[in-house]
Amino acid sequence: MCGIVAYIGTREAYPILIKGLQRLEYRGYDSAGVALLNGDLNVYKKAGKVVDLEAYVGAQDTHATMGIGHTRWATHGVPNDCNAHPHLSYSGNLALIHNGIIENYESLKTELQRRGYLFQSDTDTEVLVNLIEEIKKQEGVELEDAVRIALNEVVGAYAIVVMEKGKEDKLIAARKGSPLVIGIGENEFFVASDASPIIEFTKNVVYLEDQEYAVINRDGHFTLKTLGNVETTPSIQKLEMNLEAIEKGGFDHFMLKEIYEQPRAVADALRGRMSASGGWIKLGGVVEYEKRILNADRLLIAACGTSWHSGLLAEYLIEDVARMSVEVEYASEFRYRNPVVDHEDVMIAISQSGETADTLAAIELAKERGALIYGICNVIGSSIARVSHAGSYTHAGPEIGVASTKAFSTQVAILTLMALQIGEAKGTIPTSRLREILFELENIPAKIEETLKLNDQILEIAKTYKDATNFLYLGRGVNFPVALEGALKLKEISYIHAEGYPAAEMKHGPIALIDENMPVVILATNRSAYEKIVSNVQEVKARKGKVIAIVNKGDRQIKGLADHVIEVPETEDILAPLVTIVPLQLLSYHIAILRGCNVDQPRNLAKSVTVE
Ligand code: GLU
Repeated sequence: MCGIVAYIGTREAYPILIKGLQRLEYRGYDSAGVALLNGDLNVYKKAGKVVDLEAYVGAQDTHATMGIGHTRWATHGVPNDCNAHPHLSYSGNLALIHNGIIENYESLKTELQRRGYLFQSDTDTEVLVNLIEEIKKQEGVELEDAVRIALNEVVGAYAIVVMEKGKEDKLIAARKGSPLVIGIGENEFFVASDASPIIEFTKNVVYLEDQEYAVINRDGHFTLKTLGNVETTPSIQKLEMNLEAIEKGGFDHFMLKEIYEQPRAVADALRGRMSASGGWIKLGGVVEYEKRILNADRLLIAACGTSWHSGLLAEYLIEDVARMSVEVEYASEFRYRNPVVDHEDVMIAISQSGETADTLAAIELAKERGALIYGICNVIGSSIARVSHAGSYTHAGPEIGVASTKAFSTQVAILTLMALQIGEAKGTIPTSRLREILFELENIPAKIEETLKLNDQILEIAKTYKDATNFLYLGRGVNFPVALEGALKLKEISYIHAEGYPAAEMKHGPIALIDENMPVVILATNRSAYEKIVSNVQEVKARKGKVIAIVNKGDRQIKGLADHVIEVPETEDILAPLVTIVPLQLLSYHIAILRGCNVDQPRNLAKSVTVE
């Protein structure tokens, strides 16, 4: 979590840092701060958002051509001014920003306290900056050496940038676990957690590898080394994203913009990977490892949050179409329960950012035991993409809204292709049936577009239920993971308690909750099991619950029973989630806005969870 940005060069650093922090704010927004080095080392930091920091800095002197900035997602210590980054060392000579967790901070802190260090904050980060200071006291130890030695003593995950008073010629950046990218300009350098603060200045970037650090010099050159002190050759890449993709483009919120981008995003995810008229599907990674995948004992899916919901959906799709056994794992649990996994297994790891710490840990364990890793992520060059043997990018474009929307639908698009491709290779799906589905898949972006036109109707429904305290979401088959995802969206951004359930499970417990105050969102597009869903609607109505049903266009039976029906374009049952998720995203968006919530930056959350 958290956003890091740093600059060294010929321009004023402060405006670059502030703008960068605004772009990175989706990663954390408990507090923000900058440190500027211009003879003096000045730190300005404030609890709250980047705007609060700007107001606090006001007209103070911000002239400096180097500086570091941070937007925090607190792990150690409450979000207050003092715990905000940057943190200064005890002498005030070093300033450091940090993304991640120093797991052994307590023992390090005790030792430093024994040596006379006093601490201002409750953070693990302040321990690191003082550890570096302590090491630097030794004769002949330069800042970069002290950083390297300190990082070798540290257990945990981090991306850091450090600068030193009196050394206006260099910044030191390092990473393990958390992402960091260096932008290379003309006699200037940028460092950031992702490329969004860099893109408007340069397209040339280097992604720092895990356990690598960089010494970045004002004179226009930089060196990379491993934490083992071995120099490495930087691989300079060209950024492909454009500025427009990371701005709101006329929408009030990133979340809404990203919901509306789904027709394009899903089309991009499918592009070049299938052709209905040609009757083929080609996910490069599946082609490359086809034999291994087809012969696998089972597919293990590891993911968290929304990505876990796409994983669950993939279980339905792959088992149905490709007749392979699939197990879906919460990545956060996986490595702590001694799972049975070996070289016959294939793990599909799903993560929007490609940096999710829990998913990376699950991958590491499965890889150690010989499994093939297939990564599905959105961010190009991310850690998961790099540690996987094979994989597919979702091509959703940058997702800034903390509540994931287009990442979900593009993941589902990829996983659908995967199920179909494996099914075709195994011969478990007849060619004619495959073609039908592919033709329909090509229509999906247009059907999502049509569904978006229901926005006004959904806004009206949102007005009716905005004050509800609980919601239930029900779905069967492939619509069950959609129900989970719909409930998660509502919880995340409106803070209304919501539960997703398989519709038939309702009678085994949650039905006790239903009364006239309980809105129940029922996904009722499934052509198979339709009658059973009708019965579920009846069961809710018999207990006076309020039913909001998502039905296929033209549905009559449920229309006569439900309090509200949202009619979406009909499609193949297995493709329905790509359509049925859209009204649920819009419903949660409108309810959250009506309740005055900040949908792009919901409380306590952050976009990519790069801590365990
Ligand atoms: N562990 C540090 C803190 O709590 C950094 C958290 C972050 O990544 O924002 O301040």
